[in-house]
Amino acid sequence: MAILQVNHFSKSFRIHHLQKTMQAVESIHFTLQKGEFIGIVGKSGSGKSTILKSIYRTYLPEEGEIMYDSARFGQIDLTNASERQMIYLRKHEIGYVSQFLNVMPRITSRQLVENSLLEVGFSIKEAKERAEQALVHFDLDQTLWDAYPNTFSGGEKLRLNIAIATVKNPRLLLLDEPTASLDANSKEKVRQIIEKLKRRGTTLVGIFHDLEFMEGLCDRVFEMESRQTKIFIKDRV
Ligand code: ADP
Ligand code: MG
Repeated sequence: MAILQVNHFSKSFRIHHLQKTMQAVESIHFTLQKGEFIGIVGKSGSGKSTILKSIYRTYLPEEGEIMYDSARFGQIDLTNASERQMIYLRKHEIGYVSQFLNVMPRITSRQLVENSLLEVGFSIKEAKERAEQALVHFDLDQTLWDAYPNTFSGGEKLRLNIAIATVKNPRLLLLDEPTASLDANSKEKVRQIIEKLKRRGTTLVGIFHDLEFMEGLCDRVFEMESRQTKIFIKDRV
C-alpha cells in the first residue's frame, strides 16, 4: 500500500534581486510503498533537497500534490495540510535528517533523545530507557552521552541526528545526503545504521550523492533528469 504519492509536483523560486523565477523541479511523480526504501540521486542543484523539504513542508509547495497516508489523518495532501497538521506530523509521523545537526545548544545528547520521546508522550522513565537503547543502537560512544553535541565530529552528529529522529519510530523517514562530508570510516558506520533501519521496516526516502554507497541499500533508485530547464525524475530500474 502506498504511503506517499507525489503527483505532478513542481516548485520554483523567485529570485527577487534578479527579478527572475527559477524552476527547481518540474513534473515530479513517484510512489512510495509502505516499508519501501527508495533513493534519489542526481547532480547537485537538480532539486533533490527541494523534493524532501517540500514533503516535510520546510518549503511551501507550488503545484501538484503530495498524498501521504497518515495514521492520524488518513489520506492527506501535504501541499495543503494546515500548519497545525504539519506540526503534528513532524512530531509523530515524519522524520527528517540532514547532515547538519540543528539543535539547541547546551543540551546533552542524552537529553536531546529523551526530549524527542517526551514530546510524543512517553513517561520520563520510559524516555530514559529508550534514549539509552537508541544511543547504544546507533553506536554513539557512551562518553558522549552527557556531552554537548556542538563539539562532536560529523559522523557522531549524524548518528545522534538519526537517533533523535528515529527513536519515535516515524512512519516515514527522509534522509538528505547524510553521508556528505564524512570520511570512509564514518560512512561505513552510517551504512550499517541505515541497514538497521531497513531491517526494522522503516519506510525511507534518502538522497545519496554516492552511487556506490547506495548499492544494495535501496529497493528502488530514482534519478533526477534534466531536459532543457525542466527537471523530472525517472526510475533507474
Ligand atoms: P540538490 O539538493 O539536488 O542539490 P536543491 O533542491 O537544493 O538541489 O536545489 C535545486 C535548485 O533550487 C537549485 O538551483 C537551488 O539553487 C534552488 N533553490 C533551492 N532552495 C532554494 C531557496 N530556498 N531559494 C532559492 N533557490 C533555491
Ligand atoms: Mg541537496
